[in-house]
Amino acid sequence: MPINRQILLAARPKGWVTEENFKLVEQPVLAPGAGQFGVRNLWLSLDPYMRGRMDDAKSYAPQVEVGGLMVGATVGEVIASQHPGFNVGEFVSGAFGWQEYALSDGTGVRKVDPSRAPLSYYLGVLGMPGVTAWVGLLDIARPQAGETVVVSAASGAVGSVVGQLAKIAGCRAVGIAGGKAKCDYVVDELGFDACVDYKTAKFHDRLRAAVPKGIDVCFENVGGKVFDSALRLMNPFSRITLCGLVSQYNAAAPYGVKNMRSLLVNRIRLQGFIVSDRLEVWPRALDDLGRWLGERRLKYREAVAQGLENAPRAFIGMLRGENFGKQLVQLR
Ligand code: NDP
Repeated sequence: MPINRQILLAARPKGWVTEENFKLVEQPVLAPGAGQFGVRNLWLSLDPYMRGRMDDAKSYAPQVEVGGLMVGATVGEVIASQHPGFNVGEFVSGAFGWQEYALSDGTGVRKVDPSRAPLSYYLGVLGMPGVTAWVGLLDIARPQAGETVVVSAASGAVGSVVGQLAKIAGCRAVGIAGGKAKCDYVVDELGFDACVDYKTAKFHDRLRAAVPKGIDVCFENVGGKVFDSALRLMNPFSRITLCGLVSQYNAAAPYGVKNMRSLLVNRIRLQGFIVSDRLEVWPRALDDLGRWLGERRLKYREAVAQGLENAPRAFIGMLRGENFGKQLVQLR
């Protein structure tokens, strides 16, 4: 009988997550019951939001219980079905968790087409991270041609799409990323106008030089000091899309934002959002992203770890910025 390997939450992290917070277990693969289908997972997405699910703190979504399966989206193949809507051999994406096999009743499951794009893309540019960029930039910030858009974590899954969408909208796109290699990629490959390395000395001066007309839209993925720098450069009546605070997810104590005054004197609109609140716009966003990808107006890069057993290490590496592109685990 085939074995289903799973990764469970072994203990809640205190500060930085470690590999000891996870546990690999083996279970028999279960046959689908009436109205269910079975999936063999091929790709697992690793995303920063998973760090929040490991904590006990109140949030927008339920926490993973200690001893429970780690949450996560996968792409897989239907290998057995007692569901009228899903056939063996079809490919699907769903919240199947950190495991090699899953059962589903179809709730929240999307069929994906391997002839249109590589299957892994449905976890990135054609999945939740791509839609996050689309919603946060085009629906919430609504940049106008000629405006300056700044995005942090610019080489990552969300940030890389944000900057390219800003270019499509006719804006000046400025990224912030960690290290020269990532900044070079953001400018040379993705076509941003500039990218500033937040790990170098005089980061703030370099950011100011990269936005000679100030910042009209700040798409914030990181928080902390990087966000404080951007706040000082915001224009009157500018917008901040607060998408994530990845620099804070393992922090022992939250960073105290110093430049709050900028919100007031510049009459800035700051809006946080969670992409799963906006399910009604996903089809439109996915249409746009698929079209622009097909026209090669969107470029995309992946960081791939091999095997479920390496998911914890890859996840921790991503939170440290070791990923270069969308972080995935290839399960087969
Ligand atoms: P990325 O692919 O961008 O990976 C995370 C990146 O964060 C790392 O590569 C690293 O890039 C950067 N980073 C980590 N620590 C720090 C730090 N201390 N200071 C600055 N940068 C840091 O991940 P995603 O694109 O998947 O996610 C980006 C953000 O979007 C996250 O905050 C995430 O929580 C958020 N998000 C929000 C959603 C929503 O609905 N609101 C949905 C999806 C994502 P570098 O090497 O450049 O520092």
